[in-house]
Amino acid sequence: MKRRTKIIATLGPATEDPKVMDEIISAGIDVVRVNFSHDKIEEHVERIETLRNRVRSYGHQIGVLVDLQGPKIRIEKFKKGKIKLKKDSVFILDTNLDKNAGDENRVGINYANLAEDVSRGDTLLLDDGAIVLWVNKVEDNEITCKVIVGGKLSDNKGLNRQGGGLSAPALTEKDKEDLVVAAEMNADFVAVSFVRSASDIEEARELFQQAGGTGGIIAKIERAEALDSLEELIDASDAIMIGRGDLGVEVGDAELPALQKKIIRLARQKNSVVITATQMMQSMVNSPIPTRAEVFDVANAVLDGTDAVMLCEETATGQYPAKVVIAMDRICKEAEKQNVARISDHRLNTRFGRIDEAIAMSTMYTANHLGVAAIAALTESGDTAKWMSRISSGIPIYALTRHVETRRKVTLYRGVYPVSFDVMLNDTSEVNQEIIDELQRRGAVRNGDLIVVTMGDVSGERGGSNVMKIIRVSDS
Ligand code: PGA
Ligand code: MN
Repeated sequence: MKRRTKIIATLGPATEDPKVMDEIISAGIDVVRVNFSHDKIEEHVERIETLRNRVRSYGHQIGVLVDLQGPKIRIEKFKKGKIKLKKDSVFILDTNLDKNAGDENRVGINYANLAEDVSRGDTLLLDDGAIVLWVNKVEDNEITCKVIVGGKLSDNKGLNRQGGGLSAPALTEKDKEDLVVAAEMNADFVAVSFVRSASDIEEARELFQQAGGTGGIIAKIERAEALDSLEELIDASDAIMIGRGDLGVEVGDAELPALQKKIIRLARQKNSVVITATQMMQSMVNSPIPTRAEVFDVANAVLDGTDAVMLCEETATGQYPAKVVIAMDRICKEAEKQNVARISDHRLNTRFGRIDEAIAMSTMYTANHLGVAAIAALTESGDTAKWMSRISSGIPIYALTRHVETRRKVTLYRGVYPVSFDVMLNDTSEVNQEIIDELQRRGAVRNGDLIVVTMGDVSGERGGSNVMKIIRVSDS
């Protein structure tokens, strides 16, 4: 059985060695992510080049996801690199302070308008919640806080407000430059960090396309306000990512499991694609096996219906990049055997908006009820395959397309596998045979199996799928 849930691996210093890169490719990664919050841009460009060179010999496709840094609000630096904050002491966040002049009493902030966005009574969290501050007074450029939970604090740690509401715009100047780099890198996906509303996504898409980018835009759901605009963010983007790291700091970690389920359900309902990210296998940064809790977390995300599960530090800086992919692969496959992952109610009560959508839904209804071995969607844009994969099923969906961009895009969709295929034939039975041959070569079907095929009367037309047919594999 092929794994349906896709695995995204973040590249970093730990995957630099081409041998390690080969190991994670053969372990089955579907998409790689480069995190523009860390390392030099040239390093990311080189990593992607290496990956693409190596993956060529495997004959399959791996998507590339560029993750923009976004307006993460951070403290500036301390004179001595770090300080210790005592409980109940006074600590000032000073937006005018020199970048390197921080000490036990005050520190600079990389966001000049912070004082306008916070008020007395707010709780501010530093370093993913390790340090907790209570805002006592806001005056001009100074935010005077009382330390509620103290501890060690070092340079450039992140700052969040409990409940969200800090209004830094989603695209920073660096992000705008990085979007051009992403276009030059031919990225299949660009993830926009800390989005608040659909306009953040639209702005990113415009800049990316102006620079020649053709990939999809991913909205990272990681601040509290994004939850208020969830539907419009799903509609405006090509996929969403549940950024459990920052989101957990803003809304509280205990809220995350219910939110994850809700966000996944909504994304699938709205025909969008969803990635579950952060700390899925965190202990494997330093350990060759996952904890039981991590096994449950990955399996539960699969059962929730996520398209992809994502590895961050585990592969980027961890000690066991290949082992963690192998473990994740095994956990996903096992979870996918459960009935909830294979059966659906087929949207019996919904109306379809488009012809190709109706074809996709009819296909899934038929495939799940007739007992077919595989689905072959001849597709230009990949949309038909995406719609199909919104329906839970155990049947593999092969996206047959002549476009390499489409083949790389579908790497993110659950249960969809890209196949290079160019229909140059007019004779129907010859096309049927070509499809069968291709699937047989992949070991996807055997003699006697049924296949559902979707295609358009006019091949080469986007959104043109209007035919569904059922064919039987036979030696001829
Ligand atoms: P990051 O985003 O890894 O870029 O911080 C994901 C998250 O916050 O969970
Ligand atoms: Mn984040």
